[in-house]
Order: sequence, then structure tokens, then C-alpha cells
Amino acid sequence: MNIGEQISSVFAWVVGYGQFSIVVIFIVTLALYPTLNSWIVAYLNGRKNDELFRSLPDLPTYLENNPSCRSSGGPRCVNCNSIHFGSYAVHKFGFITNPFLGRVHFCRKCRTALYKTDC
Ligand SMILES: [Zn+2]
Repeated sequence: MNIGEQISSVFAWVVGYGQFSIVVIFIVTLALYPTLNSWIVAYLNGRKNDELFRSLPDLPTYLENNPSCRSSGGPRCVNCNSIHFGSYAVHKFGFITNPFLGRVHFCRKCRTALYKTDC
């Protein structure tokens, strides 16, 4: 097969049945994109959460490291001395399940992640 025949056979593929495979690949890509995208986002968030969760101390360790944060009104923020905390659940990424790691407690005033709990 010479180069002219090769080019004409590629041309025949594109204008013949080949265009259907291009359409099918295009539609399948469009259909799978949200799923693939959400997997990628879940994986990256899971990795970020996992790293953050690993880096944080638990409450007794936090109070041990920052004795000034111990108060009668509960633990205080090491950054701004606030007692107003919030928390959110952290999950590790898994392909079938996303196992629960625990909760990250953060300061509502300065948004610093402070310590973790297991439940
Ligand atoms: Zn704070």
C-alpha cells in the first residue's frame, strides 16, 4: 500500500463508518465526564482531607502543646483566643466506600483548623 492509498483509506474511514465511532467516543466522553470528574475531585479532596487529618493533633495533645488555650469555657483558639469552634466530618477517598476518619474542629473567627476527634 503506497502513501496515496493510505491517505485515501484514512479519508474513507473518516467519511465512512469511522465518523460513527468518533460520534460514539464523543457521546461516551460527554456522558462519563461528570462521573470521572467527580471521582477525580473526590480523590483529590480525600487526599487533602487525609493529609490535614493526619497533621492535626487530638484535643488532649492540642491542650498539652498550647497550655494557654485551656480555659473554663472550653478550649480556645491558639491564633485569636476565640472559643467559637465549628467542626466538619472528614472522609477518606475509597473506590467503593469513603471511610469516616473523624471530625476536624476549626475556629469560626479565623478559620484555623485546630484539632481532630474520632467521632
Ligand atoms: Zn481563631
